[in-house]
Amino acid sequence: ATPTALMVGTGRGAQLGILIKGPEVLETTRKVDTIVLDKTGTVTTGKMTLLAVHTADGTDETEVLRLAGALEHASEHPVAQAVATGAAAKAGTLPTPEDFVNIPGLGVQGIVDGHAVLVGREKLLADWAMTLPVHLERAKAEAEAAGRTAIAVAWDGEARAVLEVADAVKETSAEAIRRLRSLGLTPILLTGDNQAVAEAVAAEVGIEQVIAEVMPQDKVDVVKKLQAEGRSVAMVGDGVNDAAALAQADLGLAMGTGTDAAIEAGDLTLVRGDLRAAADAIRLARKTLGTIR
Ligand code: ADP
Ligand code: MG
Repeated sequence: ATPTALMVGTGRGAQLGILIKGPEVLETTRKVDTIVLDKTGTVTTGKMTLLAVHTADGTDETEVLRLAGALEHASEHPVAQAVATGAAAKAGTLPTPEDFVNIPGLGVQGIVDGHAVLVGREKLLADWAMTLPVHLERAKAEAEAAGRTAIAVAWDGEARAVLEVADAVKETSAEAIRRLRSLGLTPILLTGDNQAVAEAVAAEVGIEQVIAEVMPQDKVDVVKKLQAEGRSVAMVGDGVNDAAALAQADLGLAMGTGTDAAIEAGDLTLVRGDLRAAADAIRLARKTLGTIR
């Protein structure tokens, strides 16, 4: 590859909303055959809203929103922002937590108004030997089957509520997946979210393979495993929890709308957060290198 041809390729990249870290990136871009896509913020908008609150018998909804909202206000997770915003809208001013810990991939815990509060995946409650009452378990299953994320709320050792949050699939995602497929790539959806939610989103955008309920630190192992199968892997992500996987992938594509950690770890940035630019990047790399071989 001559430097001039590569420069032409990367200049065109900038026009398409693709920033390429160095000319050597084009070579790996050309070769990828598998594309792993993070769900939240990559395939979906990542702008979640609180849709519903299901409470345990004898639990007051406003109290759920006050305590859960107060804790989530301290977290930057898209789920947390949905809960905090929804809670503030319905329950008014939220108290300030006396203590707060973020547990990546699981949720948050802390002390609010003297109560020990947990907000997050059912697994977080299970770790503290708490289970959801049957009617909340059912509400959770129904929400997830519909593609919504169900978040459990507990305090003082008891499960108290299930919150439903959801974000929308980006308008451009389905078309992007079609284009990636037509370039011969196999798309795989990777997420820390629940299996049912992941499958609903995958079906909506035309992805057949789903790897769900993966802890943030384990996303990198999913990429390694695919590489061990002999695949050349591209990974697209936006979150802090995607950074290691982006670095491990043969080609890391970061959403320009995402976190600095993801952008630093990636080889290539999709400036506008539009997944179609991933397909453009691959086409561009093949074209640029193709003409000089
Ligand atoms: P993703 O891979 O979709 O970007 P994460 O690995 O960050 O998601 O989180 C996985 C799951 O953990 C989320 O779908 C959510 O159910 C739960 N979770 C993570 N952080 C929080 C939080 N602050 N509040 C509630 N739930 C959370
Ligand atoms: Mg994400």
